[in-house]
Parts: sequence; structure tokens; C-alpha cells
Amino acid sequence: MAIPNMPDEQMRLALKELEQATYNHDQWAEAIFSALICRLAPDERDTRGDAHHLCRFGQWFYKVGIVALKDHPGFAEISHEHERMHQCAAGLLRSSADGVPISIKDFDRFINARKRLQLVIATVRRELEVALFNLDPLTGTPSRIGMLSMLREQQEFVRREHACTVAMMDLDHFKSINDNYGHAVGDRVLIGFARYVMAHLRPYDKFFRYGGEEFLICLPDTDLQTAGDVIDRLREELASLSFEDSGKGRFQVTVSFGLALLDPDMPVEKSMDRADRALYMAKETGRNRVVKWDASMNGLPGRP
Ligand code: GH3
Ligand code: MG
Ligand code: MG
Repeated sequence: MAIPNMPDEQMRLALKELEQATYNHDQWAEAIFSALICRLAPDERDTRGDAHHLCRFGQWFYKVGIVALKDHPGFAEISHEHERMHQCAAGLLRSSADGVPISIKDFDRFINARKRLQLVIATVRRELEVALFNLDPLTGTPSRIGMLSMLREQQEFVRREHACTVAMMDLDHFKSINDNYGHAVGDRVLIGFARYVMAHLRPYDKFFRYGGEEFLICLPDTDLQTAGDVIDRLREELASLSFEDSGKGRFQVTVSFGLALLDPDMPVEKSMDRADRALYMAKETGRNRVVKWDASMNGLPGRP
């Protein structure tokens, strides 16, 4: 499962915490080895059943964490392996303190738990690094790199009877926003819209900056009717956001959407082209609208 839509600063924070966790647990493991080999008195916190909640990483992970990542399977694996590793270490330390010889089996269990934790942390770190690398620098939205391969993956689910809808989103009269308020204010509108969409989609929906003032939303497991309702609500909410220009006061911007089902039997570009034609229809029929593709739109212009 890919990293869900979330603000880039949260991704950076998660990455920093995971890097720190790797470093801290290396230091911690050295202290555990010293305690075991030199028979030093262990830190009392490391012998407790809730030791995984008490280390620096555990305090962040279980108390603060990152809400957007809580359903990501990598985070569940980290939670499981982290707890397991601390449990193994606590067992070894208690045996050592009681003068009970440590079996090679128990020692190996600790070493393996540590290796598994390192692996799951490294995997999530890599996913976060790739996701960050692929973000559009202005809006923090995933850029179109990776968009086509994601849509092709979705086609596999569609083949297994899970409808998926693609929505093309385009800001209305955005050129005049730039002309009236300046490019910097236009940029703020793009950032504000992108953040709003990212925060209000479901965790498994996908959102990309397609280019300029155009975005693509992919709604897995969603038929055209349901997608129409979801996107229409989003359209209304976006239209109600207001922006400030210090000299000219507050203003609002509307958005048009074109929707099409992801067809499993043709190239994904064809489904995007259908969504584009529906978007063209939304523009032609007044803007600030959501239009669903139907076969009568085949003659309409699509993307150049
Ligand atoms: P329509 O309702 O038909 O979509 O009209 P429009 O004015 O939105 O469409 P048009 O394609 O004529 O203009 C798009 C504008 O978006 C022009 C371009 O300068 C602006 N734009 C594209 N990327 C950015 C950006 O990153 N920042 C800003 N501020 N403007 C951008
Ligand atoms: Mg456009
Ligand atoms: Mg536009």
C-alpha cells in the first residue's frame, strides 16, 4: 500500500522520527549488550512489560504518531516488531539480573526481532522518501510521476469487480485570478485547494497535480454515481473556501470536474481522456459543475 495523501511536513516528521528511532535503538542495543555481557544492573524501564512505550521512539509512536499513517500496514508492522523486540530484551535482562543463564534460542529471538524491526523501519522510510521525492514542490501534492502506474494497478482491482472512478479537476477562470491578484496569490489558491482536497479525501483515494491548475483524483472502489456525489460535495466545499488579497479583499474560486469510470480493457489514458471530455462539457455548460462521461461525449474535444 502506498503512502496515503498527507501534508509533506508530516511525511518529513515521520521520516525524521524513524531515522531517530534507528539511531536510538542502535545505541539502546549497545547498552543492552553491555548489561548482558558485563552483568550490569539493567535500566528498570527496559525490564518492564510496557518497555516499548517508554523508549523515546515509543513515546512518539504510541502517543503522538501520524494519524494519516495509522492504517498503513508498515506502521502496524513497526508497532508489532518494536513491541516484540522490547519484550525479548526485557526477558533477557530479567534472566541476567536473576542469574539465570540465557539460552541461545532466547538470544537469537532478540537478535531476529531487532533485525525485523530494522527491516520494517527501513521499508517505511524508503516509501516515505520515494513519496516525498515525487511531491509537487508548490502544492505538496503527488506529482504526475507515478500516476499512470498507479492507475494501471487500479485496473487490476477493476478486473476483480471493484469499480474505480477517475476525476479530472480544473480551476475555473484561474487565469483571471492571476491577472487580478497576481501570481503569488494564484499560487496560494492552488496550495489552499490542494491541501483541502488532500485533507478531505478518503485515505485510500489518490490525488495528483496533473499540471498547472489541473489535478487528477482517483477514487478506488467507487462507482460513477457515488463518485459523482462525493466529488459534488467537494466541489461545493471548495467553492466556499475564501482567500484574502491584502489590497482587494476576499474572493472565492470555483472548480469544474469531469468524471469517468476506469475501464480495465483499454489504456488508462483513454479513461483519462473520457474524464477530460466530461470536464470540457462541465466548462461549456457553465463551470462550477461535476459532469460524468457518457458515450455521447465522444465527439467532444479531449486533451490536446
Ligand atoms: P477555465 O475555466 O476554462 O479553465 O479557464 P482558466 O483561466 O482556468 O484556464 P486557462 O488554461 O486559460 O489558464 C490557466 C491558468 O493557470 C494560466 C496559468 O498561468 C495558470 N497557472 C498554471 N500553473 C500555475 C501555477 O503554478 N501558479 C499560478 N499562480 N498560476 C498557474
Ligand atoms: Mg486548465
Ligand atoms: Mg482552468
